[in-house]
Amino acid sequence: MSQLIPTTELDEHDRPIVDATQHNQAVRLVKGPYQLLRRLSSGPLILLFLLAPWLTLNQAPILWMDLDRHVLHLFGLTFWPDDLLMLTWLAMGSAFALFIAANIAGRIWCGFTCPQTVWSMMFTWVEEKTEGSRNKRLKEKQKSIHQRNWLRPIIKHAAWLMMAFITGFTFVAYFETGSGLFQQVITASANHEVIFWLAFFTLLTYINAGWLREQVCLHMCPYARFQSVMVDKKTLKVSYDVDRGEPRKHKQSTSQHNKNGDCVDCQLCVQVCPVGIDIRQGLQYACIDCGACIDACDNIMSNLNLPKGLIRFSDESIHNQDNKHLPQTKNIKHWLPKNRPRLWGYLLALVISVSLFAIQILTKSDYEFHLSRDRGQLYFYNELNVSNAFTVSIQNKTSQISAFDAHVNHPDLFISGGNTLHLIPGQKASMTLTVSCKVDCPIRGKQPIEIIIKQDEKIKATLHSLFFAPATP
Ligand code: SF4
Ligand code: SF4
Repeated sequence: MSQLIPTTELDEHDRPIVDATQHNQAVRLVKGPYQLLRRLSSGPLILLFLLAPWLTLNQAPILWMDLDRHVLHLFGLTFWPDDLLMLTWLAMGSAFALFIAANIAGRIWCGFTCPQTVWSMMFTWVEEKTEGSRNKRLKEKQKSIHQRNWLRPIIKHAAWLMMAFITGFTFVAYFETGSGLFQQVITASANHEVIFWLAFFTLLTYINAGWLREQVCLHMCPYARFQSVMVDKKTLKVSYDVDRGEPRKHKQSTSQHNKNGDCVDCQLCVQVCPVGIDIRQGLQYACIDCGACIDACDNIMSNLNLPKGLIRFSDESIHNQDNKHLPQTKNIKHWLPKNRPRLWGYLLALVISVSLFAIQILTKSDYEFHLSRDRGQLYFYNELNVSNAFTVSIQNKTSQISAFDAHVNHPDLFISGGNTLHLIPGQKASMTLTVSCKVDCPIRGKQPIEIIIKQDEKIKATLHSLFFAPATP
């Protein structure tokens, strides 16, 4: 991979975090295929984020972390603390999917789907709708405090706070359920803990998406620091075609493009960049591969009747004279993992993680049953019956109330006493089961038996043990 410029060595556009808002609030929005793709990829994720605490499957929200009972409800499945290994495979599979995306096309997760950039994009859109275009905002900032129009910023901040509250509400609803939290809010019955977390997430969203924006990606997110270990020579990164673009010419002298490079130095690629870098200076750690500079530059190239792709997704071959005119994104062979051991490794790890998760999900039981003999005595008897005592333990791992009946599968044996157990969701409980035979029954010594556990007349488990009776009548 070409030399990446470390974040700490960026040019003057990479301002210290205290100046971040100066650049953030001067970002110009741009239209183009990559920005459309950003909206199309992030839209369904935003919708899922907002609806997850409200939509129910198997009588529980599709995402609900029930802290009281230590249960996670996820898309109709219920996970208990002892299912942690299963969730570990899921987390590992997600991580390897992210590594594959990074190996194929750099930080596309960051640019297209990461909540930080998606929320920043939404907040920037609100800013543009309320305060006007970048130029208008910059002009407004140059006015004195008394000359400024304060109504527009007030509307903007009110809209930001509302969006931040909806985000904070949704976060908290993952722990309280959507309807449960809504009830608490409208009846003003939320406890101090819930109010604290609502305020915390609202403020965090407002500051992150409204003020810090992509400075979080630059200065706080650890993923940017180690993503370079996932890339290889074929990884696609947003790159500037130096051979074609340089030497730059002034944008007024467009008729001279044959004698100069194609870059007219219009600075649009810098103005639309959410992290405030100039991609023409080379590959940079700060770049989140959002494609905004590609859209901006392609628009300029179209206006000048020049081929698009001066800035494009490309691998190292953008610097190769034989190959540099073809955007590699259009060459399907480029995406194949031939001669890419790292990509193969990630794919293998992904397949293993997902397979293990799938196997565990498919073999996951809703209930756990356990049968043990009374260790105190082999049997006890009276003038009518010989009896053995057993303990049946059942754990209900579903989110429904469940009832079970125990039966003994032997013609000479019967259950004396209670044989029914009711369990609320998540409950683990036991009952003592007394299995008996008549004193004159033919069973002598040791007899293997089966205890059948039924739910609504359906067999849920067959448990094995031994029944003991006196060796002689
Ligand atoms: S948008 Fe294109 S033409 Fe304009 S400065 Fe950037 S690279 Fe040059
Ligand atoms: S350089 Fe281009 S792709 Fe990279 S963050 Fe800036 S606008 Fe996005």
